[in-house]
Amino acid sequence: MGLDKLDDRLAFDRDHLWHPYSSISSPGPTYAVESASGVRLRLVRDGVPTEVIDAMSSWWCAVHGYAVPELDAAATEQLGRMSHVMFGGLTHEPAIRLGKQLVDFVGLDHVFFADSGSVAVEVAMKMAWQAHAGQGWSSSAGTQRTRMFTIRGGYHGDTFSPMSVCDPDGGMHSMYAGLVPEHVFAPRPPAGLGLGADDPVIVAWESATRALFEQHAAEIAAVIVEPVLQGAGGMHVYSPYCVDVLTRLAREHGALVIHDEIATAFWRTGPALGADRATERPDIVCVGKALTGGYLSLSAVLCTAEVAARVSESPAGAMMHGPTFMANPLACAIASASLDLLVSRDAAALVERISGELATGLAPALSLSSVVDVRTLGAVGVIELDRAVDVPALTEAALDRGVWVRPFRNLVYTMPPYVASTDDVATITGALVGAVAEVHG
Ligand SMILES: *Cc1c(COP(=O)(O)O)cnc(C)c1O
Repeated sequence: MGLDKLDDRLAFDRDHLWHPYSSISSPGPTYAVESASGVRLRLVRDGVPTEVIDAMSSWWCAVHGYAVPELDAAATEQLGRMSHVMFGGLTHEPAIRLGKQLVDFVGLDHVFFADSGSVAVEVAMKMAWQAHAGQGWSSSAGTQRTRMFTIRGGYHGDTFSPMSVCDPDGGMHSMYAGLVPEHVFAPRPPAGLGLGADDPVIVAWESATRALFEQHAAEIAAVIVEPVLQGAGGMHVYSPYCVDVLTRLAREHGALVIHDEIATAFWRTGPALGADRATERPDIVCVGKALTGGYLSLSAVLCTAEVAARVSESPAGAMMHGPTFMANPLACAIASASLDLLVSRDAAALVERISGELATGLAPALSLSSVVDVRTLGAVGVIELDRAVDVPALTEAALDRGVWVRPFRNLVYTMPPYVASTDDVATITGALVGAVAEVHG
């Protein structure tokens, strides 16, 4: 079979390629994208090329949109030097430059570069375990602190260790029962960014969480959470006070604190990091997704000097991880340029403007009968339905209105690129509200 015709290519795709969370025997519809620039994808619908606004930033990564001149230039320049060299025993300017930017941005001392968000979470969890392994436990047996403490409703990635701290019901635990280690899950914090210590729902959550932590304290290596916004676990917004409660519990009981900022970093929720709204500081932070502005897969794990020292003094004598493509120079060079661009464009101001526009534009959805909640946080806008979204129908209805959106479960949401104009955001919100009204009423 030739691949010159689009129909032949789509047939091969359908017959041979896995897509995320897809079935080979009954694949869902897929649209071919021919190119992308600015906030727009050029994709083909029923044989007809069309331009649509990407309301998803390609799963939250493409914060500057597509074909970004500054990122293209950084890539081209780096390709002229080298696309990749191994990081074992070698180093290079792109890694050093980006490392310095990340140390300043996150405020922690040591940087481990990995290749995806899931791997960053793997590394963070290994770091926490290794940090305890040198702390007076039997060195041959390692540490008794073998469990993570987290909250229900989280999402941390699809490899085994991250999967084990994803929500045990919404995640894939039951599918892989017996293979996924069992960690400790506190209740999901109540919804609401502004809830304070005295709010009755917070008081109840805190006491249940404290009791559970105390029951398991001796086995807990670390707390791991997505600060303030649980992303793929349900776009759940919760109070920074709860993040602080978890941190203080960890501190009281000698456990470490890992913040998974893979979705929340780089101003997506308003401040530079999701946890900037909290008071207490973490020991380990993971960043990924928007790190390269959506150009390449790259992630980083940052930790304190104390954690780094403990890991280095653990029985292994080193951090026992080293991906083949660690600190890929091409990805690092693009990430550096992306961070520069976020600062020079004042991402915080862009996100604040978009946030207001999302809140105004999505508000009419509240009057729809299928809608139970509308919420926004930074450049994240969510319409929650009382039922599972008919994804193919909703996708088509949004495309009819010039917008690419990928709902999941009962959520229709947008995370627009930060370069989306006021008109672009209005098109997105209008399309989301209109598509929900048309498909679900
Ligand atoms: C997407 C995501 C991950 C996983 O990242 P991948 O690059 O898909 O492996 C982990 N944690 C959070 C919070 C995420 O949003």
